[in-house]
Amino acid sequence: DRMVTAHSHSDEERQDRAIRPKRLADYIGQKELREQMEIFIQAATARQEALDHVLIFGPPGLGKTTLANIIAAEMCVKIRQTSGPVLDKAGDLAALLTNLEPHDVLFIDEIHRLSPAVEEILYPAMEDYQLDLMIGEGPAARSIKLDLPPFTLVGATTRAGLLTSPLRDRFGIVQRLEFYTVDELANIVARSAKVLGIAMEPRGAYEIARRSRGTPRIANRLLRRVRDYAEVKGNGTITEELSFQALEMLKVDNNGFDSLDRKLLLAMIESFAGGPVGLDTLAAAISEERGTIEDVVEPYLLQQGFIMRTPRGRVVTQNAYLHFGLQPPKQLGM
Ligand code: ADP
Repeated sequence: DRMVTAHSHSDEERQDRAIRPKRLADYIGQKELREQMEIFIQAATARQEALDHVLIFGPPGLGKTTLANIIAAEMCVKIRQTSGPVLDKAGDLAALLTNLEPHDVLFIDEIHRLSPAVEEILYPAMEDYQLDLMIGEGPAARSIKLDLPPFTLVGATTRAGLLTSPLRDRFGIVQRLEFYTVDELANIVARSAKVLGIAMEPRGAYEIARRSRGTPRIANRLLRRVRDYAEVKGNGTITEELSFQALEMLKVDNNGFDSLDRKLLLAMIESFAGGPVGLDTLAAAISEERGTIEDVVEPYLLQQGFIMRTPRGRVVTQNAYLHFGLQPPKQLGM
């Protein structure tokens, strides 16, 4: 594992980087977040201070990494990127911190997966820009303190609740990313197509957006597959018709559900009579990790009103039955 991710240069990655918005003005959707960040960044810049530490939480693919990079770009500073699981020794973090220049951004993805020893180092670094290190072991051990340049920690996590509260409390700015609306996703797809030089009709963009599970990363991935289809089956222009055919071929569901979504909903309907069913029971039934269900699958299904959380477990709603063309049981009555 590398501590700081290096870039490899596959075409898809190059395209990914090209379509990733670089400035706040190009960050589509998340209106409140954008308005707030604009003010915080402007104020910090005017005071010639580092921006306060920022915690960003939300499901995968909603734009956490993108936002971290935008923050650095807007502050006109460099960004260093690492992640919780990779940063396993206190010394690794110390090395990163001592190499920062004033006001730089340190981006830690999956920050909920930091080891306790590394978290301990982070507290005084965040609070007082100080590094407390223990050198040596046993009776010869001593602690040294180093001053760090003022910096901004940007932490990303799928759920705020996964963080220890002392860590969470040290972030001055906490932002939660929401799923994107179909209109916002259509804008994202249109923008990406423009950057990549793909010709697309607005209805074609809308068709992709509708099936992207509220997630920009999925929208951009579907755009590339639909482009392949339009190049081979058409003249390269993404029309509504070609878009629709391509997505049918890819078996992308009408609601944007993927196979895991369907598996979970069907298991709830068929094996648990619609619920309520506990998370661990459900995880075992579909051989999936509890964490994946909580972080990746559930948030979208909850937001779209296909499942609900009750004190006794998860239940599916009438929408779920209708989605599969099934008759909802009478007592649902919703
Ligand atoms: P995360 O870090 O939350 O998993 P990313 O920041 O990697 O998600 O975003 C995935 C992709 O989606 C990015 O490469 C970017 O192109 C696109 N994207 C994310 N958020 C936005 C946005 N607000 N506007 C436009 N494109 C976005």
